[in-house]
Amino acid sequence: MKKKRVAIKIRRTKPKASKLAKKHAKQVKRAPTPPQYSKTIIDVKSLMSLDEAKKYVFDLAGDKGIEIFTFLLNRSPIEENKLARKMKFERANAIRKFLYRLYSKNLVSYIKKKHGVKAWYTYYWEAHPDRLLFLIQKDYEDEIKQAQKSIDLNKATDFFTCNTCNRRYDLQTALENDFVCSNCHGQLSHMDINQVLVDKENRIAFLNEKIKKLSLLVKTRKVHSS
Ligand SMILES: [Zn+2]
Repeated sequence: MKKKRVAIKIRRTKPKASKLAKKHAKQVKRAPTPPQYSKTIIDVKSLMSLDEAKKYVFDLAGDKGIEIFTFLLNRSPIEENKLARKMKFERANAIRKFLYRLYSKNLVSYIKKKHGVKAWYTYYWEAHPDRLLFLIQKDYEDEIKQAQKSIDLNKATDFFTCNTCNRRYDLQTALENDFVCSNCHGQLSHMDINQVLVDKENRIAFLNEKIKKLSLLVKTRKVHSS
């Protein structure tokens, strides 16, 4: 026979929060709502004096791209035709090519405005130095990840190099090839990996230093959460 359970109700002085409510509270703590408007002010003069910044913009849009981007920095959005004139382009069409290249990485953006009852739009362009800073830092971070991966790999296995052509083999391949180079039939010898590791560690330290220096170019971050 089944025993009857006696339910005893205890009135708690403090009601226990439900699991769901607790979970919700945790989530709220973990993910603060992002501010609606944030403005990052970058020391653009220092930024554009850096070789890596110039190179990034140059690779994207050439010398003219650097000129346009630098001109747009620290100024309110400027109307396209006016910008073209300032940059000594004969027509707005000609400058658009460069603007779109910069736009492809969101280094610049535009605002469309319609004036009166006219059917066409006017475009106002502005630059985003914070985006450039972010992209350079991201490139450095990616390289650090690659270098770290390579360090881990090098630590995990032995490597061999050909005495003649310097081709590199991992232990498994070297064994399969009887320590003979498949490229030139030269003799393989054990590779001293320490210098490679030291070089990579140094490169990581160098890149981390670069990332830190770039972060110092962020002057103020004004947040309006209204
Ligand atoms: Zn070889």
